[in-house]
This record gives sequence, C-alpha cells and structure tokens, in this order.
Amino acid sequence: MKEIRPPKKNLMLYYGIALIIVGLLNFALIPYLNNMSIQDIDYSTFISMTEAEEISRAEIQENQILFVTKEDESVIYRTGIIASDTKLVDRLVEADVLFASPIVEEASPLMNIFTKWILPMVVFFGFGQLMNKRMMNKMAGNNTMMFGMGKSNAKIYVQSSQGIKFSDVAGEDEAKENLAEIVDYLHTPKKYQEIGASMPKGILLVGPPGTGKTMLAKAVAGEANVPFFSISGSEFVEMFVGMGASKVRDLFKQAKEKAPCIVFIDEIDAIGKKRDGRIGGNDEREQTLNQLLTEMDGFEGNNGVIILAATNRPESLDPALTRPGRFDRRVPVELPDLKGREEILKVHAKKVKTEPGIDYLQVARMASGASGAELANIVNEAALRAVRNHRNTVLQSDLEESIEVVIAGYEKKNAVLTNKEKMAVAYHEIGHALVAAMQTNSAPVQKITIIPRTSGALGYTMQVEEGNHYLMSKEDIENRIATYTAGRAAEEIALHTITTGASNDIEQATKLARAMITRFGMDEEFGMVALENVSNQYLGGDASLVCSLETQTRIDEKVTQLVKKQHAKAKNIIKENEEKLHKLAQYLYEHETITGDEFMSILNT
Ligand code: ADP
Ligand code: ZN
Repeated sequence: MKEIRPPKKNLMLYYGIALIIVGLLNFALIPYLNNMSIQDIDYSTFISMTEAEEISRAEIQENQILFVTKEDESVIYRTGIIASDTKLVDRLVEADVLFASPIVEEASPLMNIFTKWILPMVVFFGFGQLMNKRMMNKMAGNNTMMFGMGKSNAKIYVQSSQGIKFSDVAGEDEAKENLAEIVDYLHTPKKYQEIGASMPKGILLVGPPGTGKTMLAKAVAGEANVPFFSISGSEFVEMFVGMGASKVRDLFKQAKEKAPCIVFIDEIDAIGKKRDGRIGGNDEREQTLNQLLTEMDGFEGNNGVIILAATNRPESLDPALTRPGRFDRRVPVELPDLKGREEILKVHAKKVKTEPGIDYLQVARMASGASGAELANIVNEAALRAVRNHRNTVLQSDLEESIEVVIAGYEKKNAVLTNKEKMAVAYHEIGHALVAAMQTNSAPVQKITIIPRTSGALGYTMQVEEGNHYLMSKEDIENRIATYTAGRAAEEIALHTITTGASNDIEQATKLARAMITRFGMDEEFGMVALENVSNQYLGGDASLVCSLETQTRIDEKVTQLVKKQHAKAKNIIKENEEKLHKLAQYLYEHETITGDEFMSILNT
C-alpha cells in the first residue's frame, strides 16, 4: 500500500530558514532598533568637536566612543577608537567632558530576555505550526491521515477508502468465503452478538508470496467500509528494547478509537517467531510479541477491531500466537489453480488494451505454477512488449512471449552457438518432448524452442498440464524423472556424446527421486517413514534429513538406482523412436521454435 512519509528534507529546510531569520533579528534588527538615533562621525571631527568644547558627555567603550553634544543631547554620536591616541583622556578632561557615565541606557533585562529568548522561540514555533498545517493539507489531498505515535515515533496509516473489493481479487474463492463472514460481522454485529457468537480476534492469512494476501485484507476493509490500519511486522522491531512494545500499544490504542476497523500486520513472522529459551535471545522481539499477545487478550471479541496478519512461514510462529483467542483462524491463500490463473489474468488484462478474443485459458495453462503477482507481471510485460513493437493493443502472442520471458528471461538475440552446439540443443530438447509424449501420463508439450535466453537456458520444452493435478501417482513421478533424463539420453543416442546442458535436469530429477523415498513413502524398504522434514513449505521448501547415517547412505543408493532406471527407460523410448527423433530434431534445428501441434503432427506421421 502507498504510505505517506513526512517530507523530512522539507522540514530541515524550514528549520534552516527559521534559524536564519532569528539570526538576522539578533545581528541586524535588534542593534538597529537600539541604535536608531546614532550618528557616525569620523575621529578627526570628534577631536575638533572636543577642542571646540561642544561635547557634554562621552562614553568610552571597548571599541567605540559614544558622545552627545551640549546643543542636543538626544542625538548620539559615535566614532571608533584609535588605540595610539594616548591623549584622549587628557583632551576630554581639558574640554570638561563628563565621560564616566553611560550614554546609552542598557536595555532593560526584561527586554533582553524577550529579544534573546522569547522572540526566537515564537519564530520557531510559528514555523512549526505552519509546516504542520501544510503537511496536514498534503495528507488530506491524499485521502490519508497520519497518526503520530507518541514517543515510539511509529506511523500508522489509515486509508479510509482504498476501494479494493473482493471482486478485484480473482480466484481464491475459499479465502474470500471465509473472510466474507468477517465483512458480514462488521456490517451487522448485532446478528452475531444476539446469539452469543464472537468473531475471531485474529485471522492469519498464510500462503506463498504474491498470492494476494495483502489484497484480501484490503478487500475486507473495502467491503466492510471500515478504516484499514497497515503495518509490517518488521517495523516493530527496533534498535532499542521497548520501542516495539510501545508501538504495539499505540497501534491498538489508535485502532480501538477507530473501531470497527481492520488492522493488518504483514509478515507477522518478523515478531511472531517462536520464542526460544536461549539466554541472550532477541529481547526486543520477545517483548514486542508479549505486548501483542497482551493487547489481543485485552480486548473483548466483539469490540470491532479485527486483526488480519499475513505470513508465508506459519510453522515458525509462536504457538502462543496461534492458540484460540488470538490468531485462531487460519485462512490458506494458495497459489491459484488453472481457473484461478485464468481469472487473475482477466482481471489484470482489463487494465491494458487487448485485442478481442484472447484465449486466457491457454495462457493460464502455459503459466502453470505462477502466483497472482507473477501473472500481474506477465500481463504488464505483454503490454510493454506491445509498445516495443509499435502496437496499441496486446495480442495473444505478447502474453505467451512474456510468460517465456518470466520463466526463462529475454531472447538472447546475439548469442552465437556453433552449428554443432545448436544441433546438440535441438536433440536434447526433442529428447525431453519425445519421451514426455510417448509416456501416456506425461503432459504433452506446448512449445519447444532452441533460441537462447538471458537466463542461460539454451532451449527449453514447455510442458502443459491440461487440468489440475492434486495428486501425483508413483508412475507420474517416475515418468517425470524419465522425461528429465531424456535430454541427455537423446544426446547420447544421436550424437554419441554428453554435454553440460543437462545440469538443471539432473538437479530436478534427483530432487524428485529423493522426495519419493524420503517424503512420499514410495520406497518398499522404508515404507511410510518420514526421513526428511520440510521447513518453509511456502518458500521453496528446504528439506533436512532426519535419519541415521546408515539410512542416509541407503537413501543415496536408492536415489541413484531410481534415476538410473528412469534414464534407461528414457533411452529405450528414444531408441524405439530414433527415426522420429532425427526428423524432429532436424525440423527444430531449422525452425528454432516449434509448437506442440507441429510436434505432434510430425510425431504422428
Ligand atoms: P502477498 O501479500 O500475498 O505477498 P499481494 O497481495 O501483495 O501478495 O499481491 C501482490 C500483487 O499481485 C497484487 O498487487 C496484485 O496485483 C497481484 N495479485 C496477487 N493475487 C491476486 C489475485 N488473486 N487477483 C488479482 N491480483 C492478484
Ligand atoms: Zn534438458
């Protein structure tokens, strides 16, 4: 969300100006006021006036002499001091001048205090006020109010009408359904209170990055038409112990004043991580978390403050935070499925000019595994590509190309591959596609290309899933491993050589094979024993082995066997279709890009 930070630079500027004005007052104006009737004359005139006995009184100051004449005592004359004039005093005595008494009355002490202290303060204060007003006006223009948060200095931003509604969030129907209840509650709390039901105080939105958690929280506020407070968990964690806790207190104070309202805490894991008993742990974070827990306990379920929090590391949260009465409801916000992707694409495509009749389902199919944020990015990339090609509408091909850009990077126009390398890449990619197509359970290919990409890929095969797969059978996984190894297999068979081009395939195949044994219980010997723990399931899913060293050795052996077996299978499939392999590779070599349909028609002739 957009946040308005106070313009710090301007503030410094204004204080600078105030300082200069005070300075000017002190150095120019005040002496000027004091010396209004002083006349400067030169020293020789002074001497001649003394000798002419025109002077009645004089005052010798440190660096000047002030005197008045007998004629008119209201005019004060001033002249400099000439240090070498040793006869000054003699001359004055001779001329009967009174020179011990002061000529100019010292300004009264009260006046002094006023000019030196009060006036500057008034000027500073006035400027401060002026600044505040201007800042307030700016905020009002942005439809945003800012709350200073006492000593903690934290800022909470309320955006009363951001205008995001559930309809702006495509897909995520389950999450929306779940949150619709909250909206209903905020609209008609009576209905719930009458029966004695209380709303959950806190709702945890969990899911991978970019799936629309922030959007959903905003949409709840938008639908219920209540203020939306947003703060990131990391903003609570400060350098000094106690600051975070104070921010939490202030946040809840503000929220209660504005109730009913939504408080959204993004990345709550920054403060809500499990407290460990270690001495010298993160005191500040723990204090902040404790304060949050206290605040949540402190208000009754029905006072209209509903806290939404987002995280992509739910397993790392402190159990105290997720127990009933606090964040007791968990709403999963998962990566969109095929239909969800199609809808998200449509929502974002509304914001750009598109040619009519775009097949969004097709685009969604190609973008398997993409998050909402990535899909939004794909549409934007497509629009940029349209502009680059001097068109004023986005075409289907723009969308398809931008998926490839997001997956594999831009086309490397000037990468020069030798013919031999190009041939090897063609065989490699056809190998993947051929084995994928021949194994009935594998998804057919969408597109094969051997144009190098900035990501470093020299070519790739885009497989397409026809529908959604929630489950994968053992055979599915084995086939997939076979497909990964097929690139290398094709090189071996057709070119009798192996290249470094298979490194990514090897990585993927190994990962799958290992997961089959350690996590999916698909090995006969180990059966349904978990040999690996997965942490951070929404952030790539790091796995750590939990077994003895001997078992680890056995796992490694089994992984090797498994991959070898599938590699052999892939080689067999390719050998059986060697003629097709050459034909397809030749075609790809010449055309550089072929579609799934072209591929299938050559395969089936
Ligand atoms: P998160 O908080 O889960 O990391 P955000 O809510 O910040 O993700 O989403 C980032 C951007 O991705 C949004 O601004 C929006 O453009 C896009 N987006 C994500 N999910 C969706 C969705 N379901 N529908 C429409 N746009 C989405
Ligand atoms: Zn490959």
